[in-house]
Amino acid sequence: MASNRKVMVLAGDGIGQEVMHANMQVMEWLAKHRSLGFDVSEGLVGGVAYEAHGVPLTDETLADSIASDAVLFGAVGNPKYDDLPFELKPERGLLALRKELDLFANLRPALVFEPLVEASTLKPEVISGLDILILRELCGGVYFAEPRGIDELGDGQKKGYDTNAYTTSEIERIGRVGLDLARKRDGRLTSVEKANVMLSGVLWREVMTALHKAEGEGVALSHMYADNCAMQLVRNPKQFDVIVTDNLFGDLLSDCAAMLTGSLGMLPSASLGAPDPETNLPRAMYEPVHGSAPDIAGKNLANPLAQLLSFAMMLRYSFDQPEEADLVENAVSDALATGKRTADIMSKDAQAVGTDQMTQAVIDSMDRLAR
Ligand code: NAD
Repeated sequence: MASNRKVMVLAGDGIGQEVMHANMQVMEWLAKHRSLGFDVSEGLVGGVAYEAHGVPLTDETLADSIASDAVLFGAVGNPKYDDLPFELKPERGLLALRKELDLFANLRPALVFEPLVEASTLKPEVISGLDILILRELCGGVYFAEPRGIDELGDGQKKGYDTNAYTTSEIERIGRVGLDLARKRDGRLTSVEKANVMLSGVLWREVMTALHKAEGEGVALSHMYADNCAMQLVRNPKQFDVIVTDNLFGDLLSDCAAMLTGSLGMLPSASLGAPDPETNLPRAMYEPVHGSAPDIAGKNLANPLAQLLSFAMMLRYSFDQPEEADLVENAVSDALATGKRTADIMSKDAQAVGTDQMTQAVIDSMDRLAR
């Protein structure tokens, strides 16, 4: 259906294909029942792009992604490509998209659905009702800053090194997103670094403090060291609302928070960039946190819910459709309450279902909730 919402769909490899199929069914439901259409283009990324074109992302697919309002991404990767040169590996397609779209803000909610409280390894009282958001800086820091390399030292030794570096403006732009998100939620922002031992952390804290003073009205800012934050996430995660942190700490802390919810198959994410000058929409990509799961690919075993929750984030953050975003999220919760479970979130007395049935359960719940 033609619309002014241009979405680039990149399903990728393995279960990416299956969970994206589920996502397309939910999109069709919204077009049919809510007249909410999307102008969808589909492209190849990862291993499937390599097989077709010899590269994990073609220039044309990249250009189409940049021209779209949002990219909906599945997953990429397969061990059979492990021996390919670095630049041709499937994951390079994903990293190139993040880099070229300049997606500097990665949002990872950790939301515990009540029917899944038992799926977490933590005690129910610790995680029941949990709803926190980890905001990770995605374009700077130790994964990108120079100098980095492996040098020959000439005595049979080598030296491998990376640099953790952030500029004032890099910290300010992620800090601003943190303030905005906190304002839309419970109004609390925890800035996380290691200012006790890292100079990049000293600057991070200084800049966050100044930014909050200048632009942080309505938001309570606190600071925490990253190691303490890891402990607190396991001890008492509900103390947080929004956590903002750098690329490396965000990588670790968001995986730690992920396990609070019990399964990779339940975790959505969004990556946002600067607003497009023409549309004023932030450049954006939405993807489940999980990978292509080659061990279960093609077997109708994948949990589609992380993909559907990523789509709900797209509705909320790219297209300002909070009601439809709520509908998808509530339908996920409602479908879980019927007792249907994919294998990754299976529990005693629940009904084991595959990807197709889980998707249908969500669509049935959308029918029910929309009445
Ligand atoms: P993975 O996330 O693919 O799988 C880890 C485990 O979780 C597997 O046992 C898998 O079966 C299970 N799992 C993951 N998603 C699931 C879902 N939706 N439903 C049910 N079970 C699910 O991570 P991995 O095994 O380390 O990596 C596999 C491939 O994916 C690798 O090539 C890796 O590089 C790639 N990868 C891609 C992304 C991405 O595209 N964003 C992220 C992580 C890994």
